[in-house]
Amino acid sequence: MVALFGWLAFREVYYSYVPPPGFDQPDPNKSITFVILFAVIAAAFAYTPVRYWFFEHSLTQKARILSENKMAYVHCNTIFDSLFDKEVFAAGHANPESGRIVFQYPWCSRLMDHLKNPKHSTKEELISMHIFAHEAMHIRGELNEAKTECQAIQRNARAAMLFGIAEDIARENGMDYFKNYYQQRSQQGPQSSQYFSAECEPGKMLDERLTDSTWR
Ligand SMILES: [Zn+2]
Repeated sequence: MVALFGWLAFREVYYSYVPPPGFDQPDPNKSITFVILFAVIAAAFAYTPVRYWFFEHSLTQKARILSENKMAYVHCNTIFDSLFDKEVFAAGHANPESGRIVFQYPWCSRLMDHLKNPKHSTKEELISMHIFAHEAMHIRGELNEAKTECQAIQRNARAAMLFGIAEDIARENGMDYFKNYYQQRSQQGPQSSQYFSAECEPGKMLDERLTDSTWR
């Protein structure tokens, strides 16, 4: 659609200088209104893909820092991508061999919303930041889901701060996830409980004692 309307706008301009096929003279009456109209429609169609392209670029840079792996790159699935994604029911997935992290539709948009107003976030928005940290930990090399989840919890505040969220808000949001949504996972059936470990607590076995840990 961008190409179509971009081309229509270009064509209007082009034929005001070059004779159209079958004519001897350029058509000076080509309307500037159509040029503007087609250009605006083309820009409207381009807006969302361009916005996501920039967001993916930003996510990729931050994922490389958080995962300590230069191969990390992030893709935001559109609805169309999701239709062809074998892991359509996972909110995100990561391939440590290729470095590819995929956010399922519409989790990138939830993360964008979270970044706009990190202090007042919905449950889904807090989870979207956690997905980012969780998938980055897979790219860092951890495949066990419970360990991955615990590493992500401890780096949740670090991840949020990479996006420019203030430390106190980043820490509060990270603890909110840990105290509420993480603890619920132990009681949500085997699919969810594989992500939970009772050892994921300050001072327990999975505590990495990071200097900037979410639960410091
Ligand atoms: Zn995982």
